[in-house]
Amino acid sequence: MSGNRIGKTLAAGSGDWKRAVMRGLGCRCPACGEGRAFSSYLKVRPACDACGQELHHHRADDFPPYLTIFVVGKFVGTGIYISEMHYEPALWFHMSVWPLLTLVLALALLQPMKGAVVGLQYALGMHGFGAPVPASRNDENE
Ligand SMILES: [Zn+2]
Repeated sequence: MSGNRIGKTLAAGSGDWKRAVMRGLGCRCPACGEGRAFSSYLKVRPACDACGQELHHHRADDFPPYLTIFVVGKFVGTGIYISEMHYEPALWFHMSVWPLLTLVLALALLQPMKGAVVGLQYALGMHGFGAPVPASRNDENE
C-alpha cells in the first residue's frame, strides 16, 4: 500500500459523511479508504483487510437499488426526452439503445451506491457502527 492516499482514518459515527460516502463510492473502506469494501460484486467484506474495521454491521438493504434506479431513471429518461425532442430517432434506436444503456448504468452504479450507503451508515454510526448495541435492544427481538 502507498500510505493513506485518501486522508485520515475516520472513526465510526464521526459525522464526516462526505468523506465516508466518497470512499464508499470508490468501493473502499469508509474508515481508512485503503482496503476494499467488497469481496464480490455486492458482498461487503466482513472486515477491512487494510485496517481491520468491521463492516458487517451495515444494513444497506434496498437503499442502493433505490438510489441507482433514481439516478439511472433521471439520466435515461432525460436522454430519451432530449433525443426525441431534438433528433426524433427511429424506433429501433429507442428499443435498442435505452434498455442497453439502462442495464449497463444500473450494473455499473449499484456497487458504488452500496459502498456509499455503507459509508454513510458508518459515518453516522448507524446499525452497530460506532456505539455498542444496548442490552435492551436484544430484548426487542424476543
Ligand atoms: Zn479500512
